[in-house]
Amino acid sequence: MENKRILFIGAHTDDIEYCAGGTMFKLKENNEIHCIAFSKCSDSVPERFSKDVLKHEFESAMLFLNPKSFKLYDFQVRKFPEHRQAILEILYKVNKELNPDVIFCVNDNHQDHKVIGEECERAFRRKTLINFAIPKNGQKHNMAVSLRDSDVLNKLKLTSYYKSQEYIRGNNEDQDRIIMQYNGYISGNENAELFHIKYLNYE
Ligand SMILES: [Zn+2]
Repeated sequence: MENKRILFIGAHTDDIEYCAGGTMFKLKENNEIHCIAFSKCSDSVPERFSKDVLKHEFESAMLFLNPKSFKLYDFQVRKFPEHRQAILEILYKVNKELNPDVIFCVNDNHQDHKVIGEECERAFRRKTLINFAIPKNGQKHNMAVSLRDSDVLNKLKLTSYYKSQEYIRGNNEDQDRIIMQYNGYISGNENAELFHIKYLNYE
């Protein structure tokens, strides 16, 4: 992929980093990268952290990634189904103003991820739309992005900004490394991230 405007969309801060961090670094070299997250998840932050901690962690991660643009909205976590129309209108506006060539987004059984996945299908009709595929969630993949050593190291650094999420994901750089190796193993690469192409625009 070269000279494309590529948009990565997560429901929550850290979705795009964990699902596609290495891919973002790889694609950034020859493409224009933009990032959006729709919730800073104030309601699921552990008590010892400030309610805004995920906003700060997202901003730090984005400063390290250095995309062309990034934006964080503040929808309430787990309540996306109640805000479907507002989310769709934001996506329509993004499509009109940014006009991305390729969109990567979440789309799985989590209620917020599902809303983003479904509304992206509406908003980015006829554009190449690619979903994150997480084998742990039973998601099938039909595309693997092979990661270079530098992409692996950059992804580990990117996800390390999310200290407040270690209680969920574990403070485990090894785990992230093993997942990239496992995804590589099942796709015939050394290290990889997996995706599901929903719609391919051949134009
Ligand atoms: Zn999420």
